[in-house]
Parts: sequence; structure tokens; C-alpha cells
Amino acid sequence: MECDKCGDSAAVHAEYSGLHLCEGHLCQAVDKRVRRRVREDGLVPDDATPEDPDTWVIGLSGGKDSVVLTQILHETFDEDPRIELVALSIHEGIEGYRDESLDACVELTEDLGIRHEVVHYEDEFDVRMDDVVEDDPESMAACAYCGVFRRDVLSRYAEELGADKLLTGHNLDDEAETALMNFLEGDVRQMAKHFEASLGPFDGDSRAEEDHGDGDGGDGGGSSDAATDHAREDQDHHVPRAKPLRDVPEKEVALYARFRDLPAHITECPHAEEAYRGEIQQLMLKLEENHPGTRHSIMAGYEELASLASSAQDPDDEATPDFGECERCGAPTARDLCRKCGLLDALEAV
Ligand code: SF4
Ligand SMILES: [Zn+2]
Ligand SMILES: [Zn+2]
Repeated sequence: MECDKCGDSAAVHAEYSGLHLCEGHLCQAVDKRVRRRVREDGLVPDDATPEDPDTWVIGLSGGKDSVVLTQILHETFDEDPRIELVALSIHEGIEGYRDESLDACVELTEDLGIRHEVVHYEDEFDVRMDDVVEDDPESMAACAYCGVFRRDVLSRYAEELGADKLLTGHNLDDEAETALMNFLEGDVRQMAKHFEASLGPFDGDSRAEEDHGDGDGGDGGGSSDAATDHAREDQDHHVPRAKPLRDVPEKEVALYARFRDLPAHITECPHAEEAYRGEIQQLMLKLEENHPGTRHSIMAGYEELASLASSAQDPDDEATPDFGECERCGAPTARDLCRKCGLLDALEAV
């Protein structure tokens, strides 16, 4: 098969768009989609200046997604003094697995000359995930503990590093899975939260400028077409998040990392056991195979619904509780003790 752009031999066939692309044109299409998402989401604020740049902290795990995101953002903004990039990696205390992926993070950030910070659960909380899994005082999946600790680290360090935004490498498959899970659980409040935390544009007008039909291919459903112009609310208790890779299918992220020979670590965490998400993943694969473009259309409808759910939220509703401070660590929480401190107490008591 030949590349539809240049006639070289095609390396990939994107069923959802019908396009065959060579290595170079696949990478170009991925770059374009990430840059368009950055633009559409209004990530670069009008008031960012070289003297007072917008600081973006990238959650860099060393897996293909965050490595590709870091590479593309670096290439996009290296010459733009209004944006400052900082990479933040977390070592959860998972022997072997995380040591190797951290090597990939170090290699990448040294190559690119990006500031890189590494935070260890062991230093922060005096726990290691390998031990947490053994003790398991709450009879939960490993990821349920790990996610609470990760959120705490990310928001504290994002603050400490002066982050204006926290960027993560979620791809189209990740987001479509989350959307489907929220649909299937009937969780409209969760949809509104998802929108406020990471989906909505920063500036309600940004979508008016989007460029359609530049024929770069690989765009599939065009999730932005269906979205409303509702911008997300300011959240004074969180550094806002963004996911510039969320229009790019997982497979294309993996190919991009391979074609560009990026230092990405590919094995899975030994404690990964999100059973429900695994089921959804299988379902999504099947749907996409039989009906190419399903992930894009799920996201198009979901973003619109999540936006409506978010704008319809009653501020006095219990979905937006008053945030106070955890009496032990000061983290924002609606309770006396935050979830992280509760889990640490339970682990201590084992
Ligand atoms: S898979 Fe689960 S346990 Fe492993 S690093 Fe991710 S969240 Fe933590
Ligand atoms: Zn080509
Ligand atoms: Zn706390």
C-alpha cells in the first residue's frame, strides 16, 4: 500500500479515516492534531509573556504516551519563551518496573534539555506500592491506593513548581474508555467533574478559531465540532489539567514513539488490575474494529454532554461541596481528614 500523501510505502492504515500513511506523514498528522488541540483548548493564555511565562508541568511516566507528549510539546514550544515546560515523574516504589521507566524519563529530558523532577512515594509518605499491595488494609485494588497518592503528589508538586497547568499523556483510547465508563455507570456528576478538570477549553472563544478541513488526515470524527463553547470554571483548589494527546489513538502514539525512536518504556505495571476498565477496553476494541470511528464519535457526544452537565450544575449542589482543608496535611478536602491521610493511617495500623 502507498501513502496517500506522498506515494511512499505506507506504514499504517487508519481505518477510521480510511487513510494510508507513511512513517513521516503519520508523525506529521500526530504533531498537527496535538498542536490543534493545544490551540482549541486555549492552553496558551493571551497574557503569557517571556517575562511571565505560563508554566506547564508534564506528568512524565516514561511510558509511550507521556514521552510522545513531552517530545511534541518541546518541539512546539522550545522557541516560544511564553511557555515553560517542566517534567515531573513519580516513583511509586514498584521494583524493576518504575526504575526502568525512570531511565527513559531521564534520557528524554536530558536529550531535550527539560527540567526534570522525580518524587518518590517513599520520601513523601514513607510507603512503597510493593508493600501497600502486600498489606492492603482496605481490600482495594493497588491502583485505588496508588491513584490517591499520585493525585496528592501531582497537585502539591504542580503547586510547588509554580505550574499554571498540569498536562498528562492520556490518548484517545484512554479518554473514550473513561467516557464509556461514566456513561455505563450513569454518572452525570462524574462527567461534569471530568469536563471541569480536564476537558473543557480554558477560554470560551477558543473554538471559534479552529481550522477545519486542512486535510491532514487521521482526524476521524472531529470531536471539537460537537462541543459547545462553554469554557470550564476556574477551580481554585486545583491546578487545571489538560490532555493535548486526547485526539490521538493509542496505536498511533505507539507508532510515533517507534518511528521517531523515542526512549519509551513499554512493559505494564505488575500491579495493574483495573478489571472494569479492562472489560471496557475489550469492548472498545471490538466496536472500533467493527465500526471504525467509534472512539471519535463517543468523545464528540460525551464532550457535549459533559459540557452541558457542567454548565447545568447548581453551585449549591452537593456535587460541588465546600472544600476545606485536611486537618493533618492541609490538602483540599470536603471532610476533616483527606483520603490520602485516611489511607496512610490504615497502612500504619497494619
Ligand atoms: S498501574 Fe496502578 S499500581 Fe501500577 S503505577 Fe499505575 S496506578 Fe499505580
Ligand atoms: Zn507519506
Ligand atoms: Zn491529609
